[in-house]
Amino acid sequence: MTDVLSLESDVRFLRGVGPARARLLERLSVRTVRDLLYLFPRRYEDRRTLTALDQLKPGTTASVVARVVTVERRSTRRPGLTLIRALITDGRGYGYALWFNRRGLENLLPPGTEASFYGTIETHGGKLQITNPEVEVLQEGESDSLGRIIPVYPLTEGLSPLWLRRLIGTLLPQVLPSLEDTLPETIRDRLSLLPLPEAVEGLHYPRDGEHWRSCRRRIAFQELFVLQLGLALRRHQARKGNVAFPLVPKGPLSRALIESLPFPLTDAQRRVIDEIGADLVLTEPMNRLLQGDVGSGKTVVAALALVAAVDGGCQAAFMVPTEVLALQHHRRLSELLEPLGLEVVLIRGAMTARERQENLLSLREGRGVIAVGTHALIEDPVLFRRLGLVVIDEQHRFGVLQRGALAAKGRAPHVLVMTATPIPRTLTVSIYGDLAVSVLDELPPGRRPVVTRRVPSRRRRDLLNFIGGEMGRGRQVYWVCPLVEESETLDVASSQGRHDELTAVFPDRRVGLLHGQMASRDKEAVLLAFQRGEIDLLVSTTVIEVGVDVANATVMVIEDAHRFGLSQLHQLRGRVGRGGEESYCLLLSEGASAEGRKRLDALCSTQDGFRIAEIDLRLRGPGEVCGIRQHGLTDFRVADLLRDGKILGEARREAQALVASDPSLAGCPELRKELFALYGERLELAVTG
Ligand code: ADP
Ligand code: MG
Repeated sequence: MTDVLSLESDVRFLRGVGPARARLLERLSVRTVRDLLYLFPRRYEDRRTLTALDQLKPGTTASVVARVVTVERRSTRRPGLTLIRALITDGRGYGYALWFNRRGLENLLPPGTEASFYGTIETHGGKLQITNPEVEVLQEGESDSLGRIIPVYPLTEGLSPLWLRRLIGTLLPQVLPSLEDTLPETIRDRLSLLPLPEAVEGLHYPRDGEHWRSCRRRIAFQELFVLQLGLALRRHQARKGNVAFPLVPKGPLSRALIESLPFPLTDAQRRVIDEIGADLVLTEPMNRLLQGDVGSGKTVVAALALVAAVDGGCQAAFMVPTEVLALQHHRRLSELLEPLGLEVVLIRGAMTARERQENLLSLREGRGVIAVGTHALIEDPVLFRRLGLVVIDEQHRFGVLQRGALAAKGRAPHVLVMTATPIPRTLTVSIYGDLAVSVLDELPPGRRPVVTRRVPSRRRRDLLNFIGGEMGRGRQVYWVCPLVEESETLDVASSQGRHDELTAVFPDRRVGLLHGQMASRDKEAVLLAFQRGEIDLLVSTTVIEVGVDVANATVMVIEDAHRFGLSQLHQLRGRVGRGGEESYCLLLSEGASAEGRKRLDALCSTQDGFRIAEIDLRLRGPGEVCGIRQHGLTDFRVADLLRDGKILGEARREAQALVASDPSLAGCPELRKELFALYGERLELAVTG
């Protein structure tokens, strides 16, 4: 290789790599030299101290330097299992090193070879042995791994850890000097952060625990800082020069709506409505996140915001993740507003040509004042005359960015996003860093906890008897069918099968079926029938996961519950317990692992969505739980949103201060470049600062 190595060089051209190994590296998402620098160890081995062979203790891990005395290969009685055993000595004692199925290793270790061995010490027949040690032949009594803390990289088949370590080890001194540090020096000094090249090196080869922590902090800061900078810039851009229509939160429609409610608002609802109202009267567009556990009554809050737009002479759009939910919201809002002569328009994927034309026209001309719909709302042909407010329900199901697409339908509409996944504060800040946050922290009065139980499969009979009894008392039941991830068609088949089976079990009950592939009209009919109490038992896929609201339903049966995320189960459970009756969530989990059962037990033991979200986050990570993985906003190599709250706070403060003082980032062009490369598109940042 004659070219000078650059950070963007393809690893294929590195000495000793070549096309085959480059393909293997690609499995670790490594394509360039820079990627290799940022391929951090998954753990370390402390080889700072060598142990003499006569000091080995069983059960410990040790690093030994010794000479091979003899080496032999043996087959065993077990087919396919071969052993390689080396007798080794360091002059003070003897010991054995033993490997399983390491074909050819004996050829690398002829008697007399000096090598380092690192592994676990066991006793076997009274003799000490190191089992499956990592072995490194020493040239002239030298090794790069002796006396250091050694990185252990993520494994992929075909690449030996040793090879990877050597590759990265030789690369570091060559390329680190050209690794640019984009962080402004003032920030680095203020927070006593290490220079980037030093931190990268230290994460591969830390001197000690403390050094590792400083290096890690520096890299985590960089990752969080750049994202926060993007969010701060996005917020700045959203505000700058954008004038929203001021809306009217306490106008006649709001008063009519509140009067028509069959219940008084909770204190929390009142507070949140005021917070939103205070934003809506301004000409600066609102950007607010409303968090509230399942059943906390977010819909009413949304409805009040929607009518505030109408009272302000504007249109409003209400986007929800499923058609089922769109139908429900559309019907309720129509019931309320049509008597007042207002038109509520439903926009969904499947509309007849005529319906479509009429609805689109009505919105374009401004007759339709409120549009309720699925993501079909953000499609091109949907145009508004004067869109003043956008509300997005169950935000976590959409991801962060679709709100931008919907908001782009208006001049600078106010935006309210709602979520029932009560995510911890650190995460909110990081994902929704550009939003103000309101929290509904109170459930409507009289809610009783939903009795939640795992039901073993041998008690299926009892389960059926139980739901038979509930239906006998006039209650309604949801039965959620297993999720077949690979195929929606299989989902449907399994729900159909279950529907037929339960119809046979309960011949004099009305058993309904709802799934994602049904025609829109049929979905609507089933949902309506269930809401009117004309269906006793609704077999469904997870299309009912969010939002569906039927107070008379008291039992939720979930099959294969262990295949769902905890937050999702909590959502499903939230479909019952909405009236004053005792309600039940019954979890079938045949074939769940012990781990899986434990997870479900966590759900059984608490109704607190916040705690459940925390457990879920720990188990599945923020990307999955908040539905943002696909946007890559939490794909950090080092930073951990659950652990690094303090660093995140620092990063956020610095990012906001920087954007406030230099919104075009003219003073730090390199940083600006990094930011746009990483997030420019994903955060829809305008290029002109
Ligand atoms: P979520 O926050 O999960 O979207 P919903 O808005 O669907 O919750 O409300 C859940 C149920 O609680 C609905 O049946 C709704 O009518 C009812 N509800 C909302 N607010 C109140 C209240 N203040 N008092 C009593 N019931 C309420
Ligand atoms: Mg809801």
